[in-house]
Amino acid sequence: MTDCIFCKIAKDEIPASKLYESRNFMVFLDISPANKGHALIVPKMHAQSLTDLPEHVAQEFGELQLRVSKAVMQSTNAEGFNLLLNDGRAAGQEVMHAHMHIMPRFSTDDFHFKWTHKKYGEGEVQEYSERIKTNLT
Ligand code: 5GP
Ligand code: ZN
Repeated sequence: MTDCIFCKIAKDEIPASKLYESRNFMVFLDISPANKGHALIVPKMHAQSLTDLPEHVAQEFGELQLRVSKAVMQSTNAEGFNLLLNDGRAAGQEVMHAHMHIMPRFSTDDFHFKWTHKKYGEGEVQEYSERIKTNLT
């Protein structure tokens, strides 16, 4: 996609601090990190959503999450890490090319996930459970 910043990075049209590259993936440092060492795993093909990725690409995506998480932890002395994939504008996605954040975390940092915990009404746990199970192929 011509006006996509991550497609431009994939084509080396704009620079990035690349940490790893394979035929289908690149890993580079987020330009505006939540903490230093915050990395992004990005498929080279343009897909807006995780759900648009072909199975073989999604498999490598999963493997890279494990490898990059270990490398980030070993390199930053972080106490923990978050994996975050914002999928869709409603979920906070700003770059509309699927990517996974690997964020090193420290007990003293200023990063917080916050949401209000909803409650299921009568019969809703079963209803949601059945609906999702039906679509889980
Ligand atoms: P999103 O909100 O879409 O999940 O996150 C997009 C991330 O991409 C942000 O954390 C932002 O800092 C990062 N980002 C945006 N533009 C660039 C860029 O040109 N280079 C790099 N390395 N990161 C970028
Ligand atoms: Zn793209």
